[in-house]
Amino acid sequence: MEKTTATPFAKPLYVMLKPASSHCNMACEYCYYLEKKHLYEDGNHHLMSDEMLEYFTKEYIEAQTMDSVLFTWHGGEPLMRPLDFYKKAMALQRKYACGRHIDNVLQTNGILLTDEWCEFLAQNHWLVGISIDGTQDMHDHYRHTASGKPSWEQVMHGIELLKKHHVEWNAMAVVNDYNVEHPLEFYHFFKEIGCQYLQFTPIVERIVKTKEGSRLASLRNREDELGFKAEDYELASLTDNDDKLARLRTDTALSNSSITPEQWGNFLCTIFDEWVRHDVGHIFVEIFDCTLANWVGVAPGICAYGKECGHAGVMEYNGDVYSCDHFVFPEYKLGNVMEKSLIEMLYGEKQQAFSRLKHASLPRQCKECDMEFACHGECPKNRFEVDRYGEWGLNYLCRGYYQFYTHVAPAMDFMKRELQAGRAPANIMRAL
Ligand code: SF4
Ligand code: SF4
Repeated sequence: MEKTTATPFAKPLYVMLKPASSHCNMACEYCYYLEKKHLYEDGNHHLMSDEMLEYFTKEYIEAQTMDSVLFTWHGGEPLMRPLDFYKKAMALQRKYACGRHIDNVLQTNGILLTDEWCEFLAQNHWLVGISIDGTQDMHDHYRHTASGKPSWEQVMHGIELLKKHHVEWNAMAVVNDYNVEHPLEFYHFFKEIGCQYLQFTPIVERIVKTKEGSRLASLRNREDELGFKAEDYELASLTDNDDKLARLRTDTALSNSSITPEQWGNFLCTIFDEWVRHDVGHIFVEIFDCTLANWVGVAPGICAYGKECGHAGVMEYNGDVYSCDHFVFPEYKLGNVMEKSLIEMLYGEKQQAFSRLKHASLPRQCKECDMEFACHGECPKNRFEVDRYGEWGLNYLCRGYYQFYTHVAPAMDFMKRELQAGRAPANIMRAL
């Protein structure tokens, strides 16, 4: 089929790259991506080839309808590829840019950063996200190297190198059953190391036991064994098979690192109370920004808190494209870039249905919830509870989110009024 650069959609086409697939020099206990090596059993060399890199770069840039293009390098650990690979990527971006502005974002555990890496990142204005879970004991609780050693000191060394070379960076922290109990210590740590942009993600992982061993559960896990097959991404596959999904649920268990809804609510409220008194406008905490965005009726920057999702596909080393980083399961594969265009895959009906599902599959409790406009039921991957009406698909963290949104409502109302009056939301610090 002739590929086209025309698209009827105004939103940018976005695909996150896995240049080293799930390869990583760490073995964090809660990692959702390490097990993806089982997707590809054909040997151990799951590395993106130069040909694939060039094919994707050309196609990705041509598929854009906007002047800016964002490349995101993700893993596994993307620094498992040598610096030369990324120099090649930059050369290809220049070759195919056709006047477009190109940005690059790298999400890394930071261990392999060196002066040479940081010089490259600084010279090319890459934004670097560092995965770090807080203080030394918080971080080393679950984040080990592949040989089982603690990793915090090496990560901190990487952060120091980024600072030394003036590389723009932010922190991505996972909130687990350990650090969730120490919200203020957690938050102050990031302030002390000079982190201005902080994102934290709650751990909610369901483990399913299969004949081959334990692995993460997909929303449509073990369809075949349960005797039904969802042929498409219709809402029906989540709601019309309640009995079967209920059986599926009994076969899964939460991982030890997962947090409870109450822990999540307390964690968010405690950090918010500290932030709203001292740090508005200085420290950017992603979930607080997203909440304010929803409060004023602007689309938030993070999919989980938006009405629709599915704006960011993922491309594995071999060109396989999936609906979302948290849905890299065979049943959510959109195709391979060598066989289908990115436009066909990312703007096609299967992905559109995936995108709509976030809102369309909300259970009655969410539809009636006075905080739905801010919460939007969060990420579908966490929706495996029964709501108060007996409907499937309530977010496991619901009680925590409801606690958080009702707690911050007065402050959000205040900041919304300030914004609407053309004043800074940071005025809330004086008001408090
Ligand atoms: S499924 Fe979850 S992580 Fe994936 S795009 Fe939707 S909200 Fe985002
Ligand atoms: S707080 Fe709970 S009920 Fe309300 S929208 Fe969020 S998940 Fe649904």
